[in-house]
Amino acid sequence: MGDLPGVVITGVSGRMGQMLVREVQASEKLRLTGAVDRAGHDWIGRDLGLAMGGAETGLLVTDDAEAAFAEARAIIDFTAPAATLGFSRLAAERGLVHVIGTTGFSDEELDELAEVAKGSVQVRAGNMSLGVNLLTVLTRKVAEALDTEFDIEIVEAHHNRKVDAPSGTALMLGEAAAEGRGVSLADASDRGRDGITGARKAGDIGFSAIRGGDIVGEHDVIFAGPGERIILRHVASDRALFARGALKAASWALDQEPGFYDMLDVLGLN
Ligand code: NAD
Repeated sequence: MGDLPGVVITGVSGRMGQMLVREVQASEKLRLTGAVDRAGHDWIGRDLGLAMGGAETGLLVTDDAEAAFAEARAIIDFTAPAATLGFSRLAAERGLVHVIGTTGFSDEELDELAEVAKGSVQVRAGNMSLGVNLLTVLTRKVAEALDTEFDIEIVEAHHNRKVDAPSGTALMLGEAAAEGRGVSLADASDRGRDGITGARKAGDIGFSAIRGGDIVGEHDVIFAGPGERIILRHVASDRALFARGALKAASWALDQEPGFYDMLDVLGLN
């Protein structure tokens, strides 16, 4: 076990963080060498296992990312945009792989991440599941095959504690649809309709978000044409799916040259 590549999980107390800890603990490819959360969180200084309600692990949760990164070769990070930007710089300084599951970045923040990725290995995906990544490939192909007689609408549903909308996955699907159509999503996207909006513009890619209960993540890409509709759907019923994808990305990325990669690269779907 001692010679397995070390991995640090940031945001360990979060929904994804705890799932990632369990997956790394069960992994035969990676070992957990650090557990980071934000300053002031009540898990700081506590044993990770005990904080998670299980057995003692001997690993203390820390807010000192720099110290936590010392023994690691990879960071798996599902936190928040500002935190992820800071972690990306630290990971790059130390030559560590940075797997980013965080969503909700602004365009400026994405530019900053891209700048950092010029000198480090970064894997980022708004959704780390095999099924959703396959869905992006299918979405691109269907959008390529149909003209603008078919209106593209992306409908997503998530739990009531999600803070960003549309979801990172919905945006990935929107990008795939725009690519298939040969347009830029920034020009074609129609987000949030309310009131007298006027008729739908041909060629737009529409987004709607449902928030409620404990929905893990559901995405429909609807191609609505005259007299018929094609609906591509993905339903995630277990968050472990994203955690397993992130671990796969971390192991894969250890052998890559500096640069930015997504899950299509990891899964060999590009
Ligand atoms: P969550 O709120 O349960 O967890 C976020 C964690 O990050 C918390 O533990 C929080 O304390 C921690 N955190 C915040 N700021 C921090 C900082 N400065 N330093 C260290 N830790 C910090 O949220 P979640 O449901 O686990 O989701 C986290 C992110 O992952 C969101 O952006 C979500 O959209 C995304 N997500 C991505 C995928 C994917 O497959 N890419 C899947 C699920 C969730």
